Amino acid sequence: MTKKLFNSSAARITRVYALMLVIVTLLTSAAVISYAGANLIHVRQEATESTMKGLKRSFIGDRSMWNWWRFSRANDTKNTFIRVITNPVHKKGQTFYSKNAQRFLKKSKAKPSDPLLLGHIARSKNNVYYYHLKSVTKQDVKENETGVQYDVWLRLDDVIDLMGKIVATILGIALLSFIIGTALIYWVAKRLNRPLVQLTRSSKIHTKDVETAGTAQLPVPKTPQEVHDLSIEFNHLLASLNQRSEADRQFVSNASHELRTPIAGIRGHVEMIKRHGDEHPEIIPTSLDFIDKESKRMQTMIENLLKLSRASQRSLALSDVDLSETVTGIVERYRDGLKRPIELAITPDVKARTNADSVQQILVSLLDNAQKYSPTGSDIKVGLTSDGQYAIMTVADQGRGITDNQKTKVFDRFYRVDQEIPGNGLGLAIVKQLVVSNHGQIKIVDNAPQGSIFQVSFPISM
Ligand code: ADP
Repeated sequence: MTKKLFNSSAARITRVYALMLVIVTLLTSAAVISYAGANLIHVRQEATESTMKGLKRSFIGDRSMWNWWRFSRANDTKNTFIRVITNPVHKKGQTFYSKNAQRFLKKSKAKPSDPLLLGHIARSKNNVYYYHLKSVTKQDVKENETGVQYDVWLRLDDVIDLMGKIVATILGIALLSFIIGTALIYWVAKRLNRPLVQLTRSSKIHTKDVETAGTAQLPVPKTPQEVHDLSIEFNHLLASLNQRSEADRQFVSNASHELRTPIAGIRGHVEMIKRHGDEHPEIIPTSLDFIDKESKRMQTMIENLLKLSRASQRSLALSDVDLSETVTGIVERYRDGLKRPIELAITPDVKARTNADSVQQILVSLLDNAQKYSPTGSDIKVGLTSDGQYAIMTVADQGRGITDNQKTKVFDRFYRVDQEIPGNGLGLAIVKQLVVSNHGQIKIVDNAPQGSIFQVSFPISM
Protein backbone atom coordinates (compact mmCIF):
# COMPACT_ATOMS: atom_id res chain seq x y z
CA MET A 1 0.00 0.00 0.00
CA THR A 2 2.79 2.42 0.98
CA LYS A 3 4.73 1.41 -2.11
CA LYS A 4 1.63 2.02 -4.26
CA LEU A 5 1.19 5.47 -2.71
CA PHE A 6 4.87 6.25 -3.25
CA ASN A 7 4.65 5.19 -6.90
CA SER A 8 1.49 7.12 -7.68
CA SER A 9 1.71 9.84 -10.35
CA ALA A 10 0.95 12.50 -7.74
CA ALA A 11 3.89 11.33 -5.59
CA ARG A 12 6.18 11.17 -8.61
CA ILE A 13 5.23 14.65 -9.82
CA THR A 14 5.73 15.98 -6.28
CA ARG A 15 9.16 14.38 -6.03
CA VAL A 16 10.32 15.87 -9.33
CA TYR A 17 8.94 19.26 -8.33
CA ALA A 18 10.64 19.13 -4.93
CA LEU A 19 13.96 18.24 -6.52
CA MET A 20 13.61 21.09 -9.02
CA LEU A 21 12.75 23.48 -6.23
CA VAL A 22 15.83 22.45 -4.23
CA ILE A 23 18.10 22.90 -7.27
CA VAL A 24 16.58 26.28 -8.19
CA THR A 25 16.78 27.47 -4.57
CA LEU A 26 20.42 26.44 -4.25
CA LEU A 27 21.36 28.14 -7.52
CA THR A 28 19.43 31.33 -6.67
CA SER A 29 20.89 31.46 -3.16
CA ALA A 30 24.42 30.99 -4.53
CA ALA A 31 23.84 33.77 -7.09
CA VAL A 32 22.32 36.21 -4.58
CA ILE A 33 24.96 35.52 -1.94
CA SER A 34 27.84 35.90 -4.40
CA TYR A 35 26.41 39.12 -5.85
CA ALA A 36 25.60 40.72 -2.50
CA GLY A 37 28.94 39.61 -0.97
CA ALA A 38 30.97 40.88 -3.92
CA ASN A 39 29.19 44.25 -3.79
CA LEU A 40 29.65 44.72 -0.06
CA ILE A 41 33.32 43.83 -0.21
CA HIS A 42 33.80 46.07 -3.21
CA VAL A 43 32.42 49.06 -1.25
CA ARG A 44 34.81 48.29 1.64
CA GLN A 45 37.69 47.84 -0.73
CA GLU A 46 37.07 51.27 -2.26
CA ALA A 47 36.89 52.86 1.19
CA THR A 48 40.19 51.24 2.23
CA GLU A 49 41.89 52.24 -1.00
CA SER A 50 40.69 55.82 -0.62
CA THR A 51 42.09 55.97 2.95
CA MET A 52 45.37 54.60 1.68
CA LYS A 53 45.48 57.16 -1.11
CA GLY A 54 44.85 59.96 1.39
CA LEU A 55 47.69 58.68 3.60
CA LYS A 56 50.11 58.46 0.73
CA ARG A 57 49.24 61.92 -0.58
CA SER A 58 49.92 63.63 2.75
CA PHE A 59 53.35 62.28 3.61
CA ILE A 60 53.56 61.66 7.35
CA GLY A 61 57.09 61.99 8.64
CA ASP A 62 56.58 62.68 12.36
CA ARG A 63 54.03 62.80 15.16
CA SER A 64 52.86 66.36 14.47
CA MET A 65 52.09 65.44 10.86
CA TRP A 66 50.30 62.33 12.00
CA ASN A 67 48.21 64.29 14.51
CA TRP A 68 47.42 66.88 11.89
CA TRP A 69 46.31 64.17 9.45
CA ARG A 70 44.33 62.28 12.11
CA PHE A 71 42.34 65.28 13.21
CA SER A 72 41.72 66.62 9.75
CA ARG A 73 40.02 63.30 8.69
CA ALA A 74 36.86 61.83 10.03
CA ASN A 75 37.87 58.19 9.91
CA ASP A 76 35.74 55.27 11.00
CA THR A 77 37.76 54.18 14.03
CA LYS A 78 35.49 51.25 14.81
CA ASN A 79 36.09 49.27 11.65
CA THR A 80 39.06 50.94 9.97
CA PHE A 81 42.47 50.78 11.61
CA ILE A 82 45.59 52.57 10.48
CA ARG A 83 49.26 52.15 11.33
CA VAL A 84 52.02 54.43 10.10
CA ILE A 85 55.69 53.44 10.54
CA THR A 86 58.19 56.11 9.61
CA ASN A 87 61.52 54.99 8.28
CA PRO A 88 60.82 51.23 8.62
CA VAL A 89 64.01 50.31 6.65
CA HIS A 90 66.42 51.72 9.21
CA LYS A 91 64.31 50.54 12.14
CA LYS A 92 64.69 53.83 13.99
CA GLY A 93 61.45 55.40 12.97
CA GLN A 94 58.27 55.97 14.92
CA THR A 95 55.00 54.01 14.81
CA PHE A 96 51.58 55.69 15.04
CA TYR A 97 48.27 53.90 15.48
CA SER A 98 44.80 55.21 14.84
CA LYS A 99 42.22 54.90 17.64
CA ASN A 100 41.38 51.26 18.45
CA ALA A 101 44.02 49.98 15.98
CA GLN A 102 46.27 48.49 18.66
CA ARG A 103 43.32 46.87 20.37
CA PHE A 104 42.20 45.37 17.10
CA LEU A 105 45.65 43.97 16.29
CA LYS A 106 45.97 42.50 19.75
CA LYS A 107 42.52 41.00 19.92
CA SER A 108 42.37 39.63 16.40
CA LYS A 109 46.02 38.56 16.29
CA ALA A 110 46.14 39.74 12.67
CA LYS A 111 49.57 38.88 11.21
CA PRO A 112 51.16 39.26 7.76
CA SER A 113 51.30 35.43 7.76
CA ASP A 114 47.47 35.09 7.94
CA PRO A 115 46.08 33.01 5.07
CA LEU A 116 44.60 35.12 2.26
CA LEU A 117 41.12 34.02 1.26
CA LEU A 118 40.42 36.26 -1.69
CA GLY A 119 42.51 39.20 -2.91
CA HIS A 120 43.40 41.20 0.22
CA ILE A 121 40.87 39.47 2.44
CA ALA A 122 42.44 37.43 5.24
CA ARG A 123 41.41 35.51 8.32
CA SER A 124 43.32 35.85 11.54
CA LYS A 125 44.08 33.18 14.11
CA ASN A 126 41.12 34.37 16.16
CA ASN A 127 38.78 33.93 13.20
CA VAL A 128 38.45 37.62 12.50
CA TYR A 129 37.92 38.45 8.83
CA TYR A 130 39.59 41.66 7.64
CA TYR A 131 40.77 43.53 4.60
CA HIS A 132 44.42 44.63 4.69
CA LEU A 133 46.32 47.10 2.49
CA LYS A 134 49.98 47.81 2.97
CA SER A 135 52.11 50.40 1.20
CA VAL A 136 55.65 51.71 1.56
CA THR A 137 56.47 55.10 0.03
CA LYS A 138 60.04 56.32 -0.37
CA GLN A 139 61.05 59.88 -0.01
CA ASP A 140 64.35 61.68 -0.77
CA VAL A 141 65.64 63.40 2.32
CA LYS A 142 68.94 65.30 2.32
CA GLU A 143 71.02 62.90 4.38
CA ASN A 144 69.66 59.52 3.18
CA GLU A 145 66.72 57.82 1.60
CA THR A 146 63.87 57.27 4.06
CA GLY A 147 60.36 55.82 3.68
CA VAL A 148 57.01 55.46 5.36
CA GLN A 149 54.98 52.26 5.73
CA TYR A 150 51.21 52.57 5.81
CA ASP A 151 48.90 49.76 6.90
CA VAL A 152 45.14 49.98 6.66
CA TRP A 153 42.95 47.19 8.12
CA LEU A 154 39.25 46.96 7.69
CA ARG A 155 37.09 44.65 9.75
CA LEU A 156 34.71 42.57 7.70
CA ASP A 157 32.70 41.12 10.61
CA ASP A 158 29.65 43.22 9.79
CA VAL A 159 29.83 42.06 6.14
CA ILE A 160 30.08 38.44 7.26
CA ASP A 161 27.17 39.04 9.66
CA LEU A 162 25.07 40.54 6.91
CA MET A 163 25.91 37.65 4.59
CA GLY A 164 24.90 35.19 7.27
CA LYS A 165 21.58 37.00 7.67
CA ILE A 166 21.00 36.98 3.91
CA VAL A 167 21.76 33.23 3.74
CA ALA A 168 19.46 32.51 6.69
CA THR A 169 16.65 34.60 5.14
CA ILE A 170 17.01 32.90 1.74
CA LEU A 171 17.08 29.46 3.33
CA GLY A 172 14.03 30.32 5.44
CA ILE A 173 12.08 31.51 2.41
CA ALA A 174 13.26 28.46 0.43
CA LEU A 175 12.18 26.09 3.19
CA LEU A 176 8.81 27.77 3.45
CA SER A 177 8.22 27.73 -0.30
CA PHE A 178 9.44 24.11 -0.34
CA ILE A 179 6.85 23.08 2.24
CA ILE A 180 3.99 25.15 0.80
CA GLY A 181 4.96 24.38 -2.84
CA THR A 182 5.27 20.65 -2.24
CA ALA A 183 1.91 20.49 -0.51
CA LEU A 184 0.34 22.59 -3.28
CA ILE A 185 1.81 20.56 -6.11
CA TYR A 186 0.77 17.30 -4.41
CA TRP A 187 -2.77 18.63 -4.14
CA VAL A 188 -2.81 19.72 -7.82
CA ALA A 189 -1.30 16.42 -9.00
CA LYS A 190 -3.88 14.49 -6.99
CA ARG A 191 -6.67 16.57 -8.48
CA LEU A 192 -5.33 15.94 -11.98
CA ASN A 193 -5.16 12.22 -11.33
CA ARG A 194 -8.60 12.00 -9.77
CA PRO A 195 -10.40 11.04 -13.03
CA LEU A 196 -7.91 8.21 -13.54
CA VAL A 197 -8.38 6.97 -10.00
CA GLN A 198 -12.14 7.11 -10.46
CA LEU A 199 -11.83 5.20 -13.73
CA THR A 200 -9.85 2.47 -11.99
CA ARG A 201 -12.36 2.38 -9.14
CA SER A 202 -15.38 2.00 -11.41
CA SER A 203 -13.71 -0.69 -13.53
CA LYS A 204 -12.93 -2.54 -10.29
CA ILE A 205 -16.61 -2.34 -9.27
CA HIS A 206 -17.72 -3.61 -12.69
CA THR A 207 -15.22 -6.46 -12.61
CA LYS A 208 -16.47 -7.52 -9.19
CA ASP A 209 -20.10 -7.32 -10.23
CA VAL A 210 -20.08 -10.04 -12.88
CA GLU A 211 -23.80 -9.61 -13.56
CA THR A 212 -23.46 -6.00 -14.75
CA ALA A 213 -19.97 -6.42 -16.15
CA GLY A 214 -21.42 -7.73 -19.40
CA THR A 215 -23.26 -4.54 -20.31
CA ALA A 216 -21.45 -1.98 -18.18
CA GLN A 217 -19.77 1.10 -19.60
CA LEU A 218 -17.28 3.20 -17.67
CA PRO A 219 -18.02 6.87 -16.89
CA VAL A 220 -16.32 9.24 -19.37
CA PRO A 221 -14.84 12.35 -17.68
CA LYS A 222 -14.81 15.59 -19.73
CA THR A 223 -11.25 16.44 -18.74
CA PRO A 224 -8.34 15.76 -18.91
CA GLN A 225 -8.40 14.92 -22.61
CA GLU A 226 -6.14 11.85 -22.25
CA VAL A 227 -8.37 10.22 -19.64
CA HIS A 228 -11.46 11.18 -21.66
CA ASP A 229 -9.98 9.45 -24.75
CA LEU A 230 -8.83 6.47 -22.70
CA SER A 231 -12.31 5.95 -21.22
CA ILE A 232 -13.92 6.10 -24.67
CA GLU A 233 -11.44 3.59 -26.08
CA PHE A 234 -11.89 1.39 -23.03
CA ASN A 235 -15.67 1.48 -23.52
CA HIS A 236 -15.22 0.48 -27.17
CA LEU A 237 -13.10 -2.42 -26.03
CA LEU A 238 -15.70 -3.39 -23.44
CA ALA A 239 -18.46 -3.19 -26.05
CA SER A 240 -16.61 -5.42 -28.48
CA LEU A 241 -15.77 -7.91 -25.71
CA ASN A 242 -19.44 -7.89 -24.69
CA GLN A 243 -20.46 -8.48 -28.28
CA ARG A 244 -18.04 -11.33 -28.55
CA SER A 245 -19.16 -13.02 -25.36
CA GLU A 246 -22.78 -12.48 -26.41
CA ALA A 247 -22.00 -14.14 -29.76
CA ASP A 248 -20.35 -17.04 -27.93
CA ARG A 249 -23.40 -17.39 -25.65
CA GLN A 250 -25.65 -17.30 -28.71
CA PHE A 251 -23.50 -19.90 -30.41
CA VAL A 252 -23.69 -22.34 -27.49
CA SER A 253 -27.44 -21.81 -27.26
CA ASN A 254 -27.90 -22.32 -31.03
CA ALA A 255 -25.68 -25.38 -31.05
CA SER A 256 -27.57 -27.01 -28.18
CA HIS A 257 -30.87 -26.12 -29.81
CA GLU A 258 -29.78 -27.60 -33.15
CA LEU A 259 -28.64 -30.79 -31.44
CA ARG A 260 -31.61 -31.03 -29.10
CA THR A 261 -34.17 -31.14 -31.95
CA PRO A 262 -32.83 -34.25 -33.76
CA ILE A 263 -32.15 -35.99 -30.42
CA ALA A 264 -35.74 -35.38 -29.34
CA GLY A 265 -36.94 -36.82 -32.66
CA ILE A 266 -34.70 -39.88 -32.34
CA ARG A 267 -35.82 -40.48 -28.73
CA GLY A 268 -39.45 -40.21 -29.82
CA HIS A 269 -39.02 -42.88 -32.46
CA VAL A 270 -37.08 -45.17 -30.11
CA GLU A 271 -39.91 -44.88 -27.55
CA MET A 272 -42.46 -45.61 -30.25
CA ILE A 273 -40.61 -48.77 -31.40
CA LYS A 274 -40.31 -49.89 -27.76
CA ARG A 275 -44.02 -49.40 -27.10
CA HIS A 276 -45.67 -50.38 -30.33
CA GLY A 277 -42.97 -52.25 -32.23
CA ASP A 278 -44.33 -55.68 -31.25
CA GLU A 279 -47.94 -54.97 -32.18
CA HIS A 280 -47.15 -52.78 -35.23
CA PRO A 281 -43.87 -53.96 -36.69
CA GLU A 282 -44.62 -51.97 -39.91
CA ILE A 283 -43.57 -48.72 -38.14
CA ILE A 284 -40.06 -50.00 -37.51
CA PRO A 285 -38.55 -49.42 -41.01
CA THR A 286 -39.94 -45.82 -41.15
CA SER A 287 -38.61 -45.04 -37.67
CA LEU A 288 -35.21 -46.55 -38.45
CA ASP A 289 -35.08 -44.49 -41.61
CA PHE A 290 -35.80 -41.33 -39.58
CA ILE A 291 -33.23 -42.23 -36.93
CA ASP A 292 -30.65 -42.90 -39.67
CA LYS A 293 -31.29 -39.56 -41.39
CA GLU A 294 -31.31 -37.50 -38.19
CA SER A 295 -28.23 -39.15 -36.74
CA LYS A 296 -26.38 -38.49 -40.01
CA ARG A 297 -27.46 -34.84 -39.82
CA MET A 298 -26.19 -34.64 -36.26
CA GLN A 299 -22.94 -36.26 -37.27
CA THR A 300 -22.44 -33.67 -40.04
CA MET A 301 -23.26 -30.86 -37.65
CA ILE A 302 -20.85 -32.10 -34.98
CA GLU A 303 -18.13 -32.49 -37.63
CA ASN A 304 -18.83 -28.94 -38.81
CA LEU A 305 -18.71 -27.60 -35.27
CA LEU A 306 -15.34 -29.28 -34.78
CA LYS A 307 -14.11 -27.84 -38.09
CA LEU A 308 -15.23 -24.38 -37.01
CA SER A 309 -13.57 -24.69 -33.64
CA ARG A 310 -10.31 -25.91 -35.26
CA ALA A 311 -10.42 -23.18 -37.91
CA SER A 312 -10.71 -20.47 -35.26
CA GLN A 313 -8.00 -21.90 -33.01
CA ARG A 314 -5.35 -23.00 -35.47
CA SER A 315 -2.79 -20.68 -36.96
CA LEU A 316 -2.28 -21.97 -40.47
CA ALA A 317 1.09 -22.76 -42.04
CA LEU A 318 1.19 -20.48 -45.07
CA SER A 319 3.38 -21.00 -48.14
CA ASP A 320 3.63 -19.72 -51.72
CA VAL A 321 0.93 -21.65 -53.56
CA ASP A 322 0.37 -21.66 -57.32
CA LEU A 323 -3.35 -20.92 -57.07
CA SER A 324 -3.91 -21.27 -60.82
CA GLU A 325 -2.83 -24.92 -60.62
CA THR A 326 -4.48 -25.61 -57.26
CA VAL A 327 -7.90 -24.19 -58.19
CA THR A 328 -7.90 -25.96 -61.59
CA GLY A 329 -6.93 -29.24 -59.87
CA ILE A 330 -9.71 -29.00 -57.26
CA VAL A 331 -12.39 -28.18 -59.83
CA GLU A 332 -11.28 -31.08 -62.06
CA ARG A 333 -11.44 -33.51 -59.12
CA TYR A 334 -14.92 -32.38 -58.03
CA ARG A 335 -16.40 -31.72 -61.46
CA ASP A 336 -17.95 -35.23 -61.78
CA GLY A 337 -19.49 -35.16 -58.30
CA LEU A 338 -21.32 -31.86 -58.96
CA LYS A 339 -24.59 -31.92 -60.77
CA ARG A 340 -23.97 -28.57 -62.51
CA PRO A 341 -21.84 -27.65 -65.53
CA ILE A 342 -18.69 -25.79 -64.38
CA GLU A 343 -16.97 -23.13 -66.41
CA LEU A 344 -13.35 -22.19 -65.61
CA ALA A 345 -11.73 -18.77 -66.18
CA ILE A 346 -8.28 -19.09 -64.63
CA THR A 347 -5.44 -16.59 -65.18
CA PRO A 348 -2.23 -18.63 -65.32
CA ASP A 349 0.63 -18.27 -62.79
CA VAL A 350 -1.32 -16.55 -60.01
CA LYS A 351 0.59 -17.26 -56.81
CA ALA A 352 -0.58 -16.45 -53.33
CA ARG A 353 0.66 -16.87 -49.76
CA THR A 354 -1.91 -19.35 -48.49
CA ASN A 355 -2.53 -22.77 -47.08
CA ALA A 356 -3.41 -25.16 -49.96
CA ASP A 357 -5.63 -27.45 -47.80
CA SER A 358 -7.78 -24.58 -46.58
CA VAL A 359 -8.09 -23.22 -50.16
CA GLN A 360 -9.55 -26.62 -51.06
CA GLN A 361 -11.99 -26.55 -48.10
CA ILE A 362 -13.12 -23.02 -49.02
CA LEU A 363 -13.61 -23.78 -52.72
CA VAL A 364 -15.41 -27.10 -52.11
CA SER A 365 -17.77 -25.48 -49.63
CA LEU A 366 -18.57 -22.60 -52.01
CA LEU A 367 -19.11 -25.04 -54.91
CA ASP A 368 -21.39 -27.12 -52.69
CA ASN A 369 -23.51 -24.06 -51.81
CA ALA A 370 -23.54 -22.82 -55.43
CA GLN A 371 -25.00 -26.16 -56.42
CA LYS A 372 -27.40 -26.33 -53.47
CA TYR A 373 -28.88 -22.86 -54.01
CA SER A 374 -29.10 -22.73 -57.83
CA PRO A 375 -31.53 -24.43 -60.25
CA THR A 376 -30.64 -27.65 -62.02
CA GLY A 377 -28.88 -27.09 -65.32
CA SER A 378 -27.60 -23.58 -64.48
CA ASP A 379 -23.86 -22.93 -64.86
CA ILE A 380 -21.35 -22.41 -62.05
CA LYS A 381 -18.36 -20.29 -63.02
CA VAL A 382 -15.04 -20.50 -61.15
CA GLY A 383 -12.56 -17.68 -61.83
CA LEU A 384 -9.08 -16.62 -60.72
CA THR A 385 -7.38 -13.27 -61.39
CA SER A 386 -4.90 -10.97 -59.67
CA ASP A 387 -5.00 -7.20 -59.06
CA GLY A 388 -1.30 -7.03 -58.20
CA GLN A 389 -1.95 -7.15 -54.45
CA TYR A 390 -4.45 -9.94 -54.10
CA ALA A 391 -5.26 -13.14 -55.92
CA ILE A 392 -9.03 -13.09 -56.40
CA MET A 393 -10.91 -16.39 -56.57
CA THR A 394 -14.60 -16.23 -57.54
CA VAL A 395 -17.45 -18.74 -57.49
CA ALA A 396 -20.49 -17.46 -59.40
CA ASP A 397 -23.88 -19.17 -59.61
CA GLN A 398 -27.21 -18.33 -61.17
CA GLY A 399 -29.28 -19.18 -58.13
CA ARG A 400 -31.75 -17.22 -56.07
CA GLY A 401 -29.14 -14.64 -55.02
CA ILE A 402 -28.59 -13.09 -51.58
CA THR A 403 -30.21 -9.83 -50.52
CA ASP A 404 -27.99 -6.93 -49.44
CA ASN A 405 -28.86 -7.14 -45.75
CA GLN A 406 -28.14 -10.88 -45.73
CA LYS A 407 -24.78 -10.53 -47.45
CA THR A 408 -22.89 -10.27 -44.15
CA LYS A 409 -25.33 -12.25 -41.98
CA VAL A 410 -24.88 -15.47 -44.02
CA PHE A 411 -21.36 -15.71 -42.55
CA ASP A 412 -22.79 -15.86 -39.00
CA ARG A 413 -22.89 -19.21 -37.30
CA PHE A 414 -26.24 -21.06 -37.71
CA TYR A 415 -27.65 -18.29 -39.91
CA ARG A 416 -29.90 -19.80 -42.58
CA VAL A 417 -32.17 -18.08 -45.08
CA ASP A 418 -34.18 -20.94 -46.49
CA GLN A 419 -35.20 -23.62 -44.01
CA GLU A 420 -36.53 -25.93 -46.75
CA ILE A 421 -33.14 -26.76 -48.19
CA PRO A 422 -31.28 -29.01 -45.72
CA GLY A 423 -28.26 -27.51 -44.02
CA ASN A 424 -27.04 -26.31 -40.63
CA GLY A 425 -25.87 -22.76 -41.28
CA LEU A 426 -22.24 -23.50 -40.41
CA GLY A 427 -20.69 -23.87 -43.89
CA LEU A 428 -20.09 -20.15 -44.60
CA ALA A 429 -19.02 -19.47 -41.00
CA ILE A 430 -16.24 -22.07 -41.45
CA VAL A 431 -15.36 -20.57 -44.87
CA LYS A 432 -15.06 -17.08 -43.36
CA GLN A 433 -12.86 -18.33 -40.52
CA LEU A 434 -10.55 -20.13 -42.95
CA VAL A 435 -10.30 -17.03 -45.17
CA VAL A 436 -9.38 -14.89 -42.15
CA SER A 437 -6.74 -17.44 -41.08
CA ASN A 438 -5.24 -17.06 -44.57
CA HIS A 439 -5.11 -13.27 -44.07
CA GLY A 440 -7.69 -12.95 -46.84
CA GLN A 441 -11.10 -11.37 -47.31
CA ILE A 442 -14.45 -12.64 -48.55
CA LYS A 443 -17.42 -10.77 -49.95
CA ILE A 444 -20.59 -11.44 -51.92
CA VAL A 445 -21.62 -9.47 -55.00
CA ASP A 446 -24.68 -9.90 -57.17
CA ASN A 447 -24.31 -11.92 -60.36
CA ALA A 448 -26.04 -10.70 -63.53
CA PRO A 449 -28.75 -11.41 -64.52
CA GLN A 450 -29.21 -13.46 -61.36
CA GLY A 451 -27.37 -15.33 -58.65
CA SER A 452 -24.42 -14.50 -56.41
CA ILE A 453 -20.68 -14.28 -56.80
CA PHE A 454 -18.53 -15.22 -53.77
CA GLN A 455 -15.24 -13.32 -54.06
CA VAL A 456 -12.27 -14.54 -51.99
CA SER A 457 -8.99 -12.54 -51.97
CA PHE A 458 -5.65 -13.90 -50.79
CA PRO A 459 -2.48 -11.77 -50.50
CA ILE A 460 -0.22 -12.60 -53.46
CA SER A 461 3.32 -13.95 -53.02
CA MET A 462 6.02 -11.25 -53.04
P1 ADP B 1 -26.20 -24.01 -44.97
O1 ADP B 1 -25.94 -24.08 -46.42
O2 ADP B 1 -25.88 -25.25 -44.25
O3 ADP B 1 -27.52 -23.45 -44.62
P2 ADP B 1 -24.20 -21.98 -45.01
O4 ADP B 1 -23.49 -21.32 -43.90
O5 ADP B 1 -23.38 -22.65 -46.04
O6 ADP B 1 -25.20 -22.94 -44.34
O7 ADP B 1 -25.09 -20.88 -45.67
C1 ADP B 1 -25.86 -20.01 -44.90
C2 ADP B 1 -27.02 -19.47 -45.70
O8 ADP B 1 -26.56 -18.65 -46.78
C3 ADP B 1 -27.78 -20.54 -46.37
O9 ADP B 1 -28.85 -20.99 -45.55
C4 ADP B 1 -28.32 -19.88 -47.60
O10 ADP B 1 -29.56 -19.30 -47.36
C5 ADP B 1 -27.36 -18.80 -47.92
N1 ADP B 1 -26.48 -19.16 -49.07
C6 ADP B 1 -25.26 -19.72 -49.02
N2 ADP B 1 -24.75 -19.87 -50.25
C7 ADP B 1 -25.66 -19.37 -51.11
C8 ADP B 1 -25.71 -19.22 -52.52
N3 ADP B 1 -24.72 -19.62 -53.31
N4 ADP B 1 -26.82 -18.65 -53.05
C9 ADP B 1 -27.83 -18.24 -52.26
N5 ADP B 1 -27.84 -18.35 -50.94
C10 ADP B 1 -26.77 -18.92 -50.36
